[in-house]
Amino acid sequence: MKLIFLGPPGAGKGTLATRGVEICKVPHISTGAIFRSAIATLSPLGYKVKAIIEEGKLVDDETTILLVKERLDQQDTQAGYILDGFPRTISQAEALAGFSAVDKVVNFDIPDAAVLERLSGRRVCRKCGMNFHITFNKPKQEQVCDACGGELFIREDDQEGAIRKRLEVYREQTLPLIEYYRNQGLLVDIDAQGLIDTVVANFKKALGIS
Ligand code: AMP
Repeated sequence: MKLIFLGPPGAGKGTLATRGVEICKVPHISTGAIFRSAIATLSPLGYKVKAIIEEGKLVDDETTILLVKERLDQQDTQAGYILDGFPRTISQAEALAGFSAVDKVVNFDIPDAAVLERLSGRRVCRKCGMNFHITFNKPKQEQVCDACGGELFIREDDQEGAIRKRLEVYREQTLPLIEYYRNQGLLVDIDAQGLIDTVVANFKKALGIS
């Protein structure tokens, strides 16, 4: 199954994608995680995108589209994938349609207040990228990743100023994708509030997975 996860920052796309990988047996492709890993390894791509990401702005369409196209050319994505954080603009969506046909677009329905609460408590593993939350999804041991033992940190773009910018960018550039995909009959809405097990149940029901 070829899926797009669409929703504001902090909607829980990455967390649900971790579970979606087991449910749908497809790889999770997060453009944000690819960029963060490029920054951590000090690659040329990392240098190019570091300041943009830390300010909460979007990386340019050309760079992002090429990155996803190359990733979707790899063998492991042929049967399906979960695209998390891409597309984020109409241009990206149009480009994607030229190289891959998605089956469904999962729209994460969540109020602003819940988004802010999630972003301000989010912790991310420096090693494997897994997401945690200091209240809703606590790691077993404080500051340590349950999956790989890596150190948990607060993303630079989860600071207050960057959060505000990211929500503004989401409203201006990404929100129009909801109507874009609804008009194509591809959109399924899920209630993304609540604990992860509830959201997983909503996701399965929306996609007709038992
Ligand atoms: P995320 O982890 O999805 O919240 O992404 C973190 C940051 O990476 C975003 O705030 C953007 O700066 C950048 N980014 C991720 N995906 C995209 C995309 N599809 N287009 C442009 N920039 C992106």
